Amino acid sequence: MGQLDSLSLTEIRRDLHRYPESGWKEFRTTALLAEELDERGFDLFFGGEALDETARLGVPPADEISAARKRARRNGAPACYLDQMDGITGLVAEKRYGSAGPTVGVRIDIDALEIREASDDDHRPARLGFASEYSNTMHACGHDGHTSIGLGLARAIDEEGGFDGTLKLFFQPAEEGGRGGKPMSRSGHLDDVEYFFALHLGLGNETGTIIAGYEHPQPNAKLDVTFSGESSHAGKAPEDGRNALQALSAAIQNLYAIPRHSDGVTRINIGHVESPNPQSVVSDAATMRIEVRGGSIDLKEYMLERAERTVRHAGAMHSVDVETDRYGETTTFTADDELIDLVATAAADVPTVDRITRRQTFAASEDASYLIRRVQNSGGVATYLGIGASNVAGHHNSHFDIDETALELGVAVLAASIRSLDGD
Ligand SMILES: [Zn+2]
Repeated sequence: MGQLDSLSLTEIRRDLHRYPESGWKEFRTTALLAEELDERGFDLFFGGEALDETARLGVPPADEISAARKRARRNGAPACYLDQMDGITGLVAEKRYGSAGPTVGVRIDIDALEIREASDDDHRPARLGFASEYSNTMHACGHDGHTSIGLGLARAIDEEGGFDGTLKLFFQPAEEGGRGGKPMSRSGHLDDVEYFFALHLGLGNETGTIIAGYEHPQPNAKLDVTFSGESSHAGKAPEDGRNALQALSAAIQNLYAIPRHSDGVTRINIGHVESPNPQSVVSDAATMRIEVRGGSIDLKEYMLERAERTVRHAGAMHSVDVETDRYGETTTFTADDELIDLVATAAADVPTVDRITRRQTFAASEDASYLIRRVQNSGGVATYLGIGASNVAGHHNSHFDIDETALELGVAVLAASIRSLDGD
């Protein structure tokens, strides 16, 4: 028997909350999901079969990945599934229930954030003993709840019958930072998906609310920049140095000065600036992390192109080499009316749902956008569900916690939506 089999959705969510895994390190999460879905007769696709590994972005160093795998093994991940992953997290699980109905895909993100969880007694996970066991990782966006909903959906469809088609569950790694969506969209498993759902808990909506088409209109791109110069003695021979820190400083000033665009919203922000040289040495190395956003794909591209040009020229000004590396990226999508209608109708029959909104926008980005576009480009329809959850703190906050009553509600709405596609 699998380790999660006998657990309720709340218990699963709390187990995952206790052992959170950030992007590309979700070994335990993937293995435990695989264990239950294997027993339920799903066909499982791991590693390079679940996603296009060459399209992966923002992959941590190999030693961190292997440490995460070992940690997962120590905390109960079955070795047989860890072996099948071949170092790459994420899972596509597929089950054919019947041939009359359509192929339905559901995307569930499984990763946590690299932040430190609150430890005070006001924070329920700490008070009840299911706060993160790991010092700098926390499920602070609700993806532990999403994962629990994904498994709950498999259970509901399995046990309550009534779906005469094929169900494909896409357990996506590395949503945070927009790193796992594009590679999973290229796995090939989406190409025959006719109806596709992605989902998110909370995002400012109270428990009982369902947003049938939750759109994220602000695509982003994240760029890691490395400036490489040459060190020299700051007193004796400063003229021999090529100052990487100087180039970085010039870049910062000019990045924030990229002109705004008359077509719409643009954003830029810089984080994690580093140049480790002592003050007696001209800096030979400096790094920075940049994020740009735009109110459309064109505006995001505008910001990205200007940002790349700015760092390049800041480097040239100080004879410093510049390397840029795309850390993550998202695009946009429009939810299909056909599926919005379907979800709204199905949700109306779920007794715990008290408010249904057809469309809402959230000023952020989501890499489910790549999966959604892939389905739509192959002739399918797709939407992104907002499942309201009255959470005590905002997303990405160290006091974040989910209203767990939203888990069963989310499963009920998804299962009802999928069942209503039966035999179409
Ligand atoms: Zn999230």
